[in-house]
Amino acid sequence: MTRDVGLDDELPDWAGAKEFYQKYDPKDVIGRGVSSVVRRCIHKQTGQEYAVKIIEVTPERMTLQQLEEVRSSTSKEIAILRQVSGHPFIITLIDSYETSTFMFLVFDLMRRGELFDYLTEKVTLSEKETRCIMRALLEAVSYLHANHIIHRDLKPENILMDDELVIKLSDFGFSCHLEPGEKLRELCGTPGYLAPEILKCSMDETHPGYGKEVDLWACGVIFFTLLAGSPPFWHRKQMLMLRMIMEGQYQFGSPEWDDRSDTVKDLISRLLKVDPAERLTAEQALQHSFFHRYGKECRHFSPYRKFKVIAWTVRASIRIFSNYRRVRPVTKELLLCDPYSLKGVRKLIDACAFRIYGHWVKKGEQQNRAALFENVPKAIQLVLLSAEGEEGPSSMVDDPPN
Ligand code: ADP
Ligand code: MG
Repeated sequence: MTRDVGLDDELPDWAGAKEFYQKYDPKDVIGRGVSSVVRRCIHKQTGQEYAVKIIEVTPERMTLQQLEEVRSSTSKEIAILRQVSGHPFIITLIDSYETSTFMFLVFDLMRRGELFDYLTEKVTLSEKETRCIMRALLEAVSYLHANHIIHRDLKPENILMDDELVIKLSDFGFSCHLEPGEKLRELCGTPGYLAPEILKCSMDETHPGYGKEVDLWACGVIFFTLLAGSPPFWHRKQMLMLRMIMEGQYQFGSPEWDDRSDTVKDLISRLLKVDPAERLTAEQALQHSFFHRYGKECRHFSPYRKFKVIAWTVRASIRIFSNYRRVRPVTKELLLCDPYSLKGVRKLIDACAFRIYGHWVKKGEQQNRAALFENVPKAIQLVLLSAEGEEGPSSMVDDPPN
C-alpha cells in the first residue's frame, strides 16, 4: 500500500508540497505505518532534525471511499494533535501540510524510537523503569481523557522515546472526541490490546458500546508486557486469543512474576478488569501505592520506625541465611535439564532469543512477542497434549513459524 516518497520521485502535485520541501529536507525512513512513511527530516534554516509522517492519498492505490476515509481520519488526527501538543508526555506536532495526494505531519524527532524496540532489546524491564514509563503514559492518558479524547491504539509501537528515555505518546490515527456518557461501537485498535467490551460490542448489537475505559485496559496490557516480556493475552489462533481477552483469562504465571511485587500485580489486575465499570481510571491508577511507595518523603525521627527497621533487618538476614542454605547448587545436570529455573541463565536465554529471533518478533497485526516464550521441550509438549484430551492440539504443539 505504501510508496516511498523519495526526493527523486516525480510528485504529481509538486506545487502543493512545495512549502514543505522549501522548509525541510527529508532524509532516511525511520518508520512505516499502514498508509504512511515516517522520515527523519532537517529544517533547512536551523539545521534542527524532526520526523515527518508522509501519508499518501492517491487514487491509484485505494478506492474512493478508502481515500476519503484516510483523508478525513488524518484531518481528525491533525486537529487532535494540535489540541494536545505541548503536554510533556505527548508527541508535539510542529507543522502540517496538505496536498491533494500527500499529507505531511512534522513532529519532534524521538531518537530512541519505539518502546517496542527498547523492550525487545531489554527483554523485560525492572519495576523501577516500568514505574517511570507507566506513570508518564497514565499521565498522558489522564490528560487526554480530561479533554474528552480517547486514543484507542495504545501499544508499545505507538509510545516513542527520546535520548533521555523519556516517553511520548504518538499515533493519534484512531483517536476521537468522546463527550461524557457518549459511547462508541466501531471495532478498531490492535488485536492483543483490544478491551473485552470492544469485542463484545462488535458481536452483539444490543451491547451499549464502549468508552474511554478501553485505553486503561490497553495500559494494563502494556504494563504486564513490560514486566513479563510477553503479553498477557496471546494465542496463535486469534479466535482463542480473543476469547481469552473476553473472559479476562491471564496469569502472573511465568517465572518473571516470581520476582515482582504484589503491589504491581494488584495494580495490573485492577486495570485488566473485564467489567469497564470496575476498571481503574487513569487518575485512580496514578494514586495507586505502586506509584507512591518510593516517592520522595520527608521523614522525621521516630523510635517506632527505627525499631521496625532493625526488626526487618534481622528478619531479612535470617531469611537470606536460610535461603542460602537451601539454595540448590548449580550443577551440570541442573543446567542441562532445567536451565530456565535459574534466573541468570533465564535472562541470558531470553536475551539471546530476542537477539537471534528479533526479526520475526513482528509488529502490528502479527505482533508476537509471546511466540518467543512458547517453545517448550518435546517431553513437556507431549504432557500438555495428553492433558488437553479431546480439546485438540494447542498452540504449544503447532509448528513454530518460519
Ligand atoms: P501509523 O499511524 O501508520 O502507525 P505512526 O504515527 O505510528 O504511524 O508512525 C509509524 C512509525 O514511525 C512509529 O511506530 C515509529 O516507529 C515511527 N515514528 C513516528 N513518529 C516518530 C517520531 N516523531 N520520531 C521517531 N520515530 C517516529
Ligand atoms: Mg502506529
